[in-house]
Amino acid sequence: MKRALGQIVFALLMAGQFAGLFGAQSMVSASPALTLVPLNSANSTAAFSEWVNQIDSVRLMEHVSALTHCGSRHVSSGNEGADWGIGVARRYIHGQFSAMAQSSAAVVETQEFFAPWSGVQSALYNEIATLPGTDPTAGAIVIGAHYDSLNLQNQNGSAPGANDNASGVAAVLELARVLSARPHRATLVFVAFSGEEIGREGSIAFVRDYVPAHTLDIRAMINLDVIGGSVSEQGAVNDTEIRLFSAAEDNSASRQLARSLQAYSGFYGAELRVLMQDRLDRVGRYGDHQSFSDAGYPAVRFISVMENPWHQHTVMDTMDDIDPAYLQRAARTVLTVTLALADGLPSPLEATIAQADGSTSLTWQPVADAQSYVIAIHPAGSLTYDALYEVSADALSATWTALELSNVAGAAVAARDAAGQIGLFSPEQRLT
Ligand SMILES: [Zn+2]
Repeated sequence: MKRALGQIVFALLMAGQFAGLFGAQSMVSASPALTLVPLNSANSTAAFSEWVNQIDSVRLMEHVSALTHCGSRHVSSGNEGADWGIGVARRYIHGQFSAMAQSSAAVVETQEFFAPWSGVQSALYNEIATLPGTDPTAGAIVIGAHYDSLNLQNQNGSAPGANDNASGVAAVLELARVLSARPHRATLVFVAFSGEEIGREGSIAFVRDYVPAHTLDIRAMINLDVIGGSVSEQGAVNDTEIRLFSAAEDNSASRQLARSLQAYSGFYGAELRVLMQDRLDRVGRYGDHQSFSDAGYPAVRFISVMENPWHQHTVMDTMDDIDPAYLQRAARTVLTVTLALADGLPSPLEATIAQADGSTSLTWQPVADAQSYVIAIHPAGSLTYDALYEVSADALSATWTALELSNVAGAAVAARDAAGQIGLFSPEQRLT
């Protein structure tokens, strides 16, 4: 066994999935001996499961059905039609948000904006429900999905857009219903965007006009776009994983948010494994998260691993392509990471990393109510925080030697509360 130089004892919060780079055999400490704590701490997971289990595939599919049965949700399909056009979908979403507002403190708004389509300035509408947070310093988390659809062969034809993106909107509606059952530390803003298929018009208008008008202090934006399918056009199946895209570079605010969400998903045992992607989006494609990251807000996109490009943006993107169990797992995974962001303790301030005498130290300022601190290690060449360690509440620093941890690109620290929940991570402190 190697001996640590420092006096700090790490408790290793490690599950099998994080064991690759820093196996337990490489972790040592001075006395007392290293304590190995299972990553999926039962009480932490249990606290979330009662919420996560409320996400229901039957409700999700009811939303998908309602949204796909208005013929088309193309931006030119009409706001006034009784049973055809994007207006039907908008009224449905507004009605769902309004029902939630009846039994919660949520506030429902419609944002009108104008965007050019076929040479004409058209009125388009974002639907927004805001659940005020209990801590004014905690800022806002935006959870969004676009509800417009597209039929590339025939602009005026049927455009069911079941996967793209009734699936994402259904999840936003279900997340809003479940999360509005009680207030959270952070303000939660649920948005159904219009105009995504014609160039992210709705999210651009939201960032440009709505955010400053409401002085929203956005700490995170989570975009759900195409999250209901588990089968590729060639029949390959993946119903256990979900991709997470975010803007480069490796230490951008969006990439750090993505890493945090990936770590939460592992810690809380989310139903889908979250696959960090080294890109803003798929090649040649885009999504509403980009409108936020372009404006400097941390933003990510969840999307299924499998897509069917033969069906996307055609009359064939129907409910038949939705896997209800997968959509439920996807929505539950997003709920898991959203709960961590929304309820977790604030991030420690003044996190600083320094190297001296062969050791590396991360230091930070205390967080009220912290029961311990969790250190996330980001190895060079990895997209994720591959290991989480814990130090006691009075430590306010963690020190390791190159023998204990090598190849470290950066580290971040979060406070852990009495319920065992990991709070928000500090900005990552980089060594490389
Ligand atoms: Zn889409």
